Order: sequence, then C-alpha cells, then structure tokens
Amino acid sequence: MIVKSFIWLLLAIHSSFAGVHRDEHRKTELACTMDENLLQEIQGYQSVVEQIFYEIVRGRFAGQTWESIMELTDTFGPRMSGTEQLEKAIDYSVERMRRDGLENVHTEEALVPHWVRGYESAVLMEPFYKKLPMLGLGSSIGTPKGGIFANAVVVMSFEELESLSNEAVQGKIVVFVPKWVSYGVTGQYRREGAAAAAEKGAVAALIRSVTPFSIGSPHTGVQTYEAGVKQIPIAAITVEDAEMLLRKYRRGETLKLHIVMEDYNLDPFMSRNVIGELEGTVYSNMSVVVVSGHLDSWDVGVGAMDDAGGAMISWKALTYLRDMGLRPRRTIRAILWTGEEQGVWGAKHYYEDHKRQQEEEFSFFFEADSGTFNPTGFDFVGNNQAGCIFEEIVKLMAPLNITDFRTTPDAGPDISYWVTDGFPAAAFINDNERYFWFHHSEGDSMLVESSESLDKCAAIWAAAAYVVADMSIPMPRS
Ligand SMILES: [Zn+2]
Repeated sequence: MIVKSFIWLLLAIHSSFAGVHRDEHRKTELACTMDENLLQEIQGYQSVVEQIFYEIVRGRFAGQTWESIMELTDTFGPRMSGTEQLEKAIDYSVERMRRDGLENVHTEEALVPHWVRGYESAVLMEPFYKKLPMLGLGSSIGTPKGGIFANAVVVMSFEELESLSNEAVQGKIVVFVPKWVSYGVTGQYRREGAAAAAEKGAVAALIRSVTPFSIGSPHTGVQTYEAGVKQIPIAAITVEDAEMLLRKYRRGETLKLHIVMEDYNLDPFMSRNVIGELEGTVYSNMSVVVVSGHLDSWDVGVGAMDDAGGAMISWKALTYLRDMGLRPRRTIRAILWTGEEQGVWGAKHYYEDHKRQQEEEFSFFFEADSGTFNPTGFDFVGNNQAGCIFEEIVKLMAPLNITDFRTTPDAGPDISYWVTDGFPAAAFINDNERYFWFHHSEGDSMLVESSESLDKCAAIWAAAAYVVADMSIPMPRS
C-alpha cells in the first residue's frame, strides 16, 4: 500500500517536469521477439523495483547518497592520480565499504601517471596588462625557469595553423580558439594541441577551455605528446580570454604573453582500484555484474560531479540492497576506478588482470561517469538479444518516470575494454546539459549535486543491477 501511494505521489510530482527532456532523447526501437516466460519473469520484478525506489528515494536511505559524497569530498578534497589525497580516499573507501557490510572488500594495484602541477601563471603583457587565469593540462611539461615571453599566434583550427608558414609560428605561443562543437570534437585541441603547435615550431600552446559556457574559470584535462615531436608546455585559458585574444589578433594587434609553468612528470605511481561486493546467492565468483565509477579526479574543484557521484552510487547501490535484505543470484561487484582522468589507467590494469578468465567471471558492466543529475533513461550497448532484455528492464523504471532506452556504441571509458570484447553494458541518461560547464574546473563542487537527483540515480542503479544479477539467465554477450 505504502509503495503504491508513494509511486502515485512521485508520478504527480514528476509530471510537471515531464516533456522537458522527453523530446530531446532519441529512443531506439529494437526488433524484439521475447520469450514469453522471460518477459513475465522480468515483469515479475516490478514490485521489488518499486520497493528499492521507495527505500532509496523516500524511505530510510533518502538523502544518504548526497551525505556520503559530501563526507568524501569534504574530507579528502580533490583526488588527483599520484596524490596522497587520492590514496587516503581509497583507504577510507575500503574501510567504509567494510563497515557497510559489503563482502570481499579489497584493492587491486594499478600503475597511474604521476604528474605534478606546480606554480602556474599567464599574463597578457601587451598591448595591455591582464592576468589570464590558466590551468596546465595533465602531463604537460613546465616552462624553462623564468617562464616564456613570446608573441601569440591565435588560430581557430588545426587547418588554420597548418595554412601558416613555419616562420610565422616559430618561437611563438599558439593559442587555439576553436568553436564549441562537442566535448569529443572541441576536446581534440586539448588532447593534440601541443603536438600540432610544436610541429610548426611553437614554444608553447594555449587552448580555449573545453566547455560551452564560462564564468571566467579555466578547465583542465589530459593531453598527450606525440612520439618524435618536441614536447612543449600546454595549458587552458578561459573562454572569455581566449575569444578576446582571437578578436584582438584578428584586428592585427601584437599580443605579448608571459607564461610560467612549474609542472613536471614523475615516474608512474602505484595506486589501487577499490572493489566491494554483494555476493550472489547462487553464483559467487562467476557471471558477475559490475557497477562502477572513478574515485580519482582532477586537482581543481573536488570532483564531486566527476566522478564522486558515479563512484558513490555504484558503492551505495550495494549497501542499500544489502540493508534491504535483497541479495541476487549473481554477485554485484562495485569497482571504484583509479587513474581515470589521466588515461583510464585503473580500468586498463583491471582488464589486463582479469581478461583471461572473463568468459566465466563477468556478465554485465555498468558505468556512471557522465553526471548524476536527474536520470531519464538508459544507454545500452550489446547484442540485440541482450538489448531486448534490457529494454524490458528499463520499463520497470517507469514509476520514477525513467523510460528512455537508447543504444550506444560506448557506455563509458572505464568499461570500454569489456564492451570491445562483446560484453553487454549500460549507463544511465541524465539531464546533464550543464555537465561541461563545471567539468575539470574549480566549479566541480557539491553545489552541482542535488540530493533528490542522487537518490534517483542510486535507486535506478540498484534496481537495474539487481534485476540483471538476479534473472534466471545471464545477459547474452556477443
Ligand atoms: Zn570522469
């Protein structure tokens, strides 16, 4: 009774917002011929799913996920690879997972990059003096002592840079000011800008921060040097400053910059992935369902959104199910990845260590690393048969008005190795239109997170993982 009335209340509250996001998501229609018994079996999970929703969204666990993320981020702050803060957050997670009563709680080692951000500054010296807020990009080398004084060459694209003569770029600082298209497209300048500028003889590179919106703060992120190309320092400046430099440059002004970066790279650092389980009643170490997010972050902000939220709902989904006495047939394994930001290192090592026994060990992968805002549906990757089953599971989420089902080639960076090997996987869709406003910047704080949305994310995470782990058949893989 209580469950029923709760569901109606939720529907009533939510209906005022329905339609806002509904049209933006393209639904996928799979051609499905479902076995009638299996269909009935999945539909039979409706009441347990509603029980999970009730307890996490309105009942005894309501608000706990936000509290847990707050405690993690207020206690340890940012958690960059190679820092003691990340390692302490890892120790804390192990201790708290055990206290939550999760099983087989342990860590598994993974070598991660050890890049150190030193003192950094950028100043426009001429034609007028202005400090340019700047963040070096992960793995960037520093400038020579005293910094670099050089004129700027401002371009909007790699093609525009390519069209210039080497003499025009030699000894200059290339500033890339691409238009925002998407994270993937605009992010190329962050990932490959240093190499492109160095090939033309530049002494340093700056990029417009990879974000669609800005209130004057730079956004960092990882970059990679190209083998055989001279390594030069690279950093991000704000959208405001980048676009101003572009306008001034286009008017023919000479822009003198002074950049100081005391950043450097050390030998790789031994970090750890954190693993905790809700052990299955029938299968313990086979056909495991993985739920995951990354514990490491950048060193600016506190990484509440990227990705303490995703890591915490993955961990707490198990805690809540356990406290409710819900234990599926197969094990649900929470993995809090390390070293994601600087190149998915934790996930890479985990894959290397487990790939040999993958046939027996795993059945399904979940990853949450695109925000924990109001969830609206699921992205799925896998074969048609698994897709048809998962689409039916998503229908169980209707009481929270979470109904969108899409297929995707990619459910997240940390589980990509398994997806490539043919395992089915899923991520949830959420109202993350503002995700890149805060991403990799000082803005990634608890202010971005809402307790109500986190409860819903944790609820659908727990419910989806429970059903996939408990069904009579494992999810078919390609
Ligand atoms: Zn992330």
